[in-house]
Amino acid sequence: MIPIKMIDQKQRVIWLNKSPQSIRFCRPVKIAYVKETTSLILKENENLDNQIKNLDIYVHPYQSAEIFVKFDGHLTLIDGKVLNILTGTKSCQLCPMCGAKPTQLLTITDFNSKTFDMKPHTDQYGLSSLHAWIRFFEFLLKISFRIELRKWHVKGNDKIELEARKHKVQAAFWNDLGLHVDKPRQNGSGNTNDGNTARRAFSNPKLLSSILGIDHSLIQRLHVILIAINCHYPINSEKFRIFCSETFSMYMANYFWYPMSPTVHKVLVHGYIIIEKTIVPVGSLAESASEARHKLFKADRKDHARKCSRVDNMSDVFHRAMDSSDPLLSSFCSTKTNRMPLPAEVVDLLDSPIISPGTEDR
Ligand SMILES: [Zn+2]
Repeated sequence: MIPIKMIDQKQRVIWLNKSPQSIRFCRPVKIAYVKETTSLILKENENLDNQIKNLDIYVHPYQSAEIFVKFDGHLTLIDGKVLNILTGTKSCQLCPMCGAKPTQLLTITDFNSKTFDMKPHTDQYGLSSLHAWIRFFEFLLKISFRIELRKWHVKGNDKIELEARKHKVQAAFWNDLGLHVDKPRQNGSGNTNDGNTARRAFSNPKLLSSILGIDHSLIQRLHVILIAINCHYPINSEKFRIFCSETFSMYMANYFWYPMSPTVHKVLVHGYIIIEKTIVPVGSLAESASEARHKLFKADRKDHARKCSRVDNMSDVFHRAMDSSDPLLSSFCSTKTNRMPLPAEVVDLLDSPIISPGTEDR
């Protein structure tokens, strides 16, 4: 759970979390040692929904009056697997928002096609902006591996050619950027395509374009979109829609032989609607902080928790996470990060700031 902002009845901002993606503000709600199954995810979702609905109004005595605080929770700290289950999407090849199949993603060139109409209630889960980095990067890799074959399904002898091309691309990544891509991790947890690898690769679109053999302007545009949905400023949904629809057409014209990945399709085609629906910038609702917490949980379980029983072990991990995410303590320590200035193309997609009265000095 991440506190985002506090507003008064006139919509004036009283408190704003300046670093919503810092682990210092990401608090655990519950911790459990169980397998992540479909039924468990649905049960936990229902449980959270009920808790959000039944939250009491907090009354704070202030001088001779009282302050009433109402809460509003949004379930956006999720990854693609959870999103698919919550939206009733049976396969990870389908778009979780509209249910479009790969063959439809391959053939439909109309950005406004009826097939892409969103299913009801699918616009409330944010954009999972951190995972978008990884999925966009993997999508470009898959195209690059097939770029000489220009085929979606690879069979027979073509497989040898694809493997050869894959090795060539992997070697180029290692030589030019010092990155291992698309290789299994040694400790057995997934592969080397993580958020940091993707961000490093995208940071130099020209070099990435030469390694992958993919159109430079397409990569540049995808990079702009990724930065926009991860930044903590409000995006202008109409400008974003136009930018995405141009990018969509550019892709469909040049790479019509490979279906767009569901995540890329989700951001390009449905992104502007989701941006319209969220009350804070989509980047503030990203899942980076909760994912970063997973790493801490692993380290804390190993090095900072009792090991006499599983209950003690998990309790220690939970308590430590509560301590390190205390909002009051976290507001004292300065979370200085060296943020890169936003590229001009990203700034062009943002909304102009509206200064509400009384908040100029904050
Ligand atoms: Zn869709």
